[in-house]
Amino acid sequence: MKHIFILLMTTFLFVKNGQAQEVIQRKFEKMGSSFEITLVHSNPIYAQQLIDESIAEIDRIERLISSWDKNSQTSLVNKMAGIRSQVVPKELFDLILRANTIARLTDGAFDLSYASVDKLWSFNREEITPPSPSVVEASVAKIGFEKIKMDTEKQTVFLPEKGMKIGFGAIGKGYAADRVKSLLLEKGVEAGIVNASGDMSAWGTQPDGSPWQVGLVNPLNKNKIFSWFPLLNTAVVTSGDYERYLLMDGKRYGHIINPKTGYPSQGVVSCTVFAPKAELADALATALFVMGSETGIDFIDQLPNVEALMITDDGKIITSKNIDLDEII
Ligand code: ADP
Ligand code: MG
Repeated sequence: MKHIFILLMTTFLFVKNGQAQEVIQRKFEKMGSSFEITLVHSNPIYAQQLIDESIAEIDRIERLISSWDKNSQTSLVNKMAGIRSQVVPKELFDLILRANTIARLTDGAFDLSYASVDKLWSFNREEITPPSPSVVEASVAKIGFEKIKMDTEKQTVFLPEKGMKIGFGAIGKGYAADRVKSLLLEKGVEAGIVNASGDMSAWGTQPDGSPWQVGLVNPLNKNKIFSWFPLLNTAVVTSGDYERYLLMDGKRYGHIINPKTGYPSQGVVSCTVFAPKAELADALATALFVMGSETGIDFIDQLPNVEALMITDDGKIITSKNIDLDEII
């Protein structure tokens, strides 16, 4: 579980338009992570059915984007690298297009095609012998979102070089959180919060009308929540390296790869991004690890409706301009 919590002011029974509103909550495992769906509804049995439908939706997304499932649409694209283009469902096509827009925006710090170096590193919190520089170089040569060929009319994706690969590890849970929120909104759920292992998408308010609150914990001091933030129809995503990292020469490297070098990133231990959509927040949180704290926060300050909070490995907390640090500590 990530260092992020939801505070529920009221657990149940608030009367709105003559109907008692309850908070219904369920935890479950999907996409190799823990999920939690919280929703406000007057009919708890129906609400549980809606959670079942949400879980089915997450399964469906996994079949589209998983790199582990050999038959997922994404695995088929990867298998055809250097061979031929692959027709994909519109949903996947559009997701790749949006991811490539974020890749351009972040100057390639976030890049789906980072995945060609995926197998070179294992983040088991142990000292490792690094792969030889020539092996890393050969893999980095395959990275480059701008090489991905997409044909809108035919709805095809082509990775033109053998060994090229795309992976949705940095954006999949955010996308799933957004999709579940949309599904529940379509079903008339007026308020809820989807937590995909620290990637949160919220809408509406708690039954008493107060906003959902999320608490952030400083990973360098895990037992203490250092701030609560209200979430009103926004998403917040936290990406941290304290569960998945490796050591080289005693130095700590996080599980996010710098696509320019092929080496894991260093210096940042946690990034939290607030944005209108969890998908965008998720991708940006990953990019910030690669950009580092100074460049990263400057970059965030230029984007509308996006805020960030970063923690460096020497304990500094850096925030974008609309987050007031004095209020936090
Ligand atoms: P987490 O969900 O583990 O907190 P992220 O959302 O930041 O973290 O995603 C990290 C995952 O993203 C990695 O495990 C890997 O699959 C993938 N990834 C690593 N580096 C990059 C990168 N530069 N661009 C895109 N995806 C990346
Ligand atoms: Mg991410």
